[in-house]
Amino acid sequence: MNIEKEIIDLQNQMEKDKEFFWNNPEEGLKEIKTSAYIKKRLQEMGYTDINDSIYETGIIATSHGKEEKPCILFRSDIDAVKMDENGRMKHTCGHDAHMTILLSLAKLIMNNKDKIKGTVKLLFEPDEEGNGGAYKMIQNGALDNVDEAYAIHVWSELKEGTVSIREGAVMASTDPFEITVTGRGGHAAMPEKCIDTIYIANEIGKMVKEMAKIDVENDDKIILGITAINAGNNNNVIPDRAYLKGIFRSFNNEIRDKVKKELKEKVENKAKELGGVAELKFIGNYPATINSKNEARKLKKLFENIADNIDTEYQTMCSEDFSYFLRNVPGAMILVGCSKGTYYPQHNENFSCGMKSILIGTQCFFEIVKTELF
Ligand SMILES: [Zn+2]
Ligand SMILES: [Zn+2]
Repeated sequence: MNIEKEIIDLQNQMEKDKEFFWNNPEEGLKEIKTSAYIKKRLQEMGYTDINDSIYETGIIATSHGKEEKPCILFRSDIDAVKMDENGRMKHTCGHDAHMTILLSLAKLIMNNKDKIKGTVKLLFEPDEEGNGGAYKMIQNGALDNVDEAYAIHVWSELKEGTVSIREGAVMASTDPFEITVTGRGGHAAMPEKCIDTIYIANEIGKMVKEMAKIDVENDDKIILGITAINAGNNNNVIPDRAYLKGIFRSFNNEIRDKVKKELKEKVENKAKELGGVAELKFIGNYPATINSKNEARKLKKLFENIADNIDTEYQTMCSEDFSYFLRNVPGAMILVGCSKGTYYPQHNENFSCGMKSILIGTQCFFEIVKTELF
């Protein structure tokens, strides 16, 4: 690991920031204390252009350099993870580390203000785990004038000291869906008078499973399956309706569009074929997170001196709404390894991210600023 002194010097403050966020985990769109703390810290540093009305608890702080261009955006998510049905919140996705990194970058930008040519936007996004703040912030103008966008996710599947920067798809799209199947209920002793909803639901489940492609490489992979079936509750009644839930994930946004259309058509046709009616609805969606090739290549070179180990292959079926930024401008999602000792996955009760990953993440972001804007 290779971290410059200017960043090492911020470590005390990093620990304070991280501790505050860790002790105040808040649900998406309710990040009141978190957002107020970020704003206060930015003001202390001397930021005057702070937009806190872009979307709910989101914040964009802008640093204006000698010239307007280029304009580079750095993003941190700010929400915690809901850990149980009682709504207990905890930072088990590392967003506390992301905020600490972005505040450290904010300080470095202020320290080097007279060297910076272009514009830097520091974007703090609410509700990443929920309905996705990214899309709403972009709709409200977060990407106006922005030339490139970068985000970091600290990542438990990669060892502490590793930085992963992949050309192309790094995270999958996610499209959860619900299906309502309607048949004609009646006495189980007279199935010929009924349209068997449960049978139709089963046939749909089987068909959906067959559409999945999991034994293929990267971009062609299609995760598709039914994850819940609810229907009936009696031995001698064929129910009127069945309710199914399922998930679709893919690394390729063109394949995604095609499969979504196909899935809806096939499911609805299958029910029709068997005498019933099915309606499939997609409920929320994130596209695949695709790093632009040039930027990813450039970053790989930049980060070689920082990390103990650079990875260029890793990708995950997890999803991230930073994908919306990368659909609009070039840039990258950088994964900073944070696993040490026993492996605990993201969202696990015991997940944590240490200071080494925060230092590396900060150096990665600062390296981009120095290269693009000094
Ligand atoms: Zn998460
Ligand atoms: Zn996350």
